[in-house]
Amino acid sequence: RRPDALPATPAEERSSTRPHLSDGAPFRRAVVTGGAGFLGSHLCSELRRRGTEVLCVDNFLTGTPRNVAHLLGDPGFRLVQCDITDYMHVPDEVDLVLHFASPASPVDYLKLPIHTLKVGALGTLHALGLAKEKGARFLLASTSEVYGDPQVHPQPEDYWGHVNPVGPRGVYDEAKRFAEALTVAYRSENDVDTAIVRIFNTFGPRMRPFDGRAIPTFIRQALAGEPLTVAGDGSQTRSVCYVDDLVRGVLALAASGHSGPMNIGNPHEQSVLQIAHDVIAATGSSSSVEHVARPVDDPTVRRPDTTLATQVLGWEPSISWRTGLDRTVAWFREELSDDASRVA
Ligand code: NAD
Repeated sequence: RRPDALPATPAEERSSTRPHLSDGAPFRRAVVTGGAGFLGSHLCSELRRRGTEVLCVDNFLTGTPRNVAHLLGDPGFRLVQCDITDYMHVPDEVDLVLHFASPASPVDYLKLPIHTLKVGALGTLHALGLAKEKGARFLLASTSEVYGDPQVHPQPEDYWGHVNPVGPRGVYDEAKRFAEALTVAYRSENDVDTAIVRIFNTFGPRMRPFDGRAIPTFIRQALAGEPLTVAGDGSQTRSVCYVDDLVRGVLALAASGHSGPMNIGNPHEQSVLQIAHDVIAATGSSSSVEHVARPVDDPTVRRPDTTLATQVLGWEPSISWRTGLDRTVAWFREELSDDASRVA
């Protein structure tokens, strides 16, 4: 596969002359849509650590200001409540737009199917419009779900996927596929300097205990001494990436000038049942495993082919599953005990 998935545009050539984050010369000002969510909040923190001013735009649908509370006194950080499906106006200069707003967990997008499609379509349109107006680099948070229940394993970027558009997960998968197509159209027709990252399952602090994704669900259940609910026989596989590795990959792609699409994820593949047993061990819980029905269209296998990220960015995950799990469990222990004391 060629490292450059799409032909270079004048915008890309401009971006190749932009100082790179890795050179210690960061973007000056970034807009992060969905910045009060799980991934967005970690991106905001890391951008601030690298010296980039951040405007975090969020409607708090599935995120919360608590996720960025640690940044609120920082003069280089601003939080704006805004639904980007309605509009997005930013008066200041901006040189990077990271578009992360979207319900992302199956529980959320099944509860919010129309909003999920609207934020993928109208939200992406407005975020791209902002990047066009400001002459900024634009990065779309896409997903491994564009590969659906894949028939090619592991999944390289040139695999077109196996998606059921009318299944319950279709709202998310198709929203992201449309968002990718729109991003490419803005690149080719409007010369916007765009990139697409296809994010595989990521975990870490600030996931919501009830967001329905396997790892936070298992940790919550294990800490409460409840049975861990494993879908089906648990032989379906997932490859999970610790959030710090993901953030490093996303910012490397932003700084690179590469258009993508590019997979970022940890290729270490394991069964969902193994993940459940590891969570029980990491929490020291005496919980058992209970098998429940598998959701419709639940992917059977999932593993990124990360050759492109390694070739182009020199990116590889560096945090092991066990280290990431221990950090996440430590955060959940504190969070859940805080929650208990707030309720008490
Ligand atoms: P999240 O739900 O924690 O964050 C999404 C944020 O977007 C929330 O803060 C939410 O309030 C905000 N939002 C939703 N609709 C909005 C709107 N109309 N206007 C403004 N803000 C809005 O989810 P996450 O896990 O942090 O995912 C972030 C992005 O990364 C999503 O685009 C998701 O599709 C993508 N992604 C995440 C993963 C993962 O493993 N976490 C995997 C693949 C792709």
